[in-house]
Amino acid sequence: MIFTVKTRSKTEFIDITLQVQEQLNQIAKSADLFRGLCMLFVPHTTAAITINESADPSVQTDIQMVLNKIVPWEAAYRHLEGNSPAHVKSTLVGASELIAIDNGRLVLGTWQGIFFCEFDGPRTRKVHLNLLNNH
Ligand code: ZN
Repeated sequence: MIFTVKTRSKTEFIDITLQVQEQLNQIAKSADLFRGLCMLFVPHTTAAITINESADPSVQTDIQMVLNKIVPWEAAYRHLEGNSPAHVKSTLVGASELIAIDNGRLVLGTWQGIFFCEFDGPRTRKVHLNLLNNH
C-alpha cells in the first residue's frame, strides 16, 4: 500500500501518525485483532521518516535547526543538481521505520509521532506501508 504526502515548504516535518493508522485500519481486516509489524518506507533520496515527539512542535523545529547546522546549505558540494544538503539529511535521518502493531494499533510512546521529513520540497511524496502479520 502506498499513500501520498503533500509537502508545502523546502524543509518540513509532517506528522503522519493518523494517516498511517488510517491506512492500517483499511488494510488489516478485523484490524482490532491485528498483531504484527508495520514497515514504513520513503522511496525518495531527499526526504526521510522518523519517530519523535509530537506533543510540542518546537521539537521538530529544533531538530531541523540542528540538521541545518550539521549540513550547511552552502558548501563545496559536487552534485550538480544543487540539492546535496537534502540528500545528506535524507541519509542521516533514514528512509524507513519499523513499528509494532498490537490490537490493530501502532505501538508508540505517549509523546511519539511518526514524521515525514521533507528536505527538498514542496513536492508530492510517497510513503510505502507494508504489514507483517504475527498470527
Ligand atoms: Zn539531487
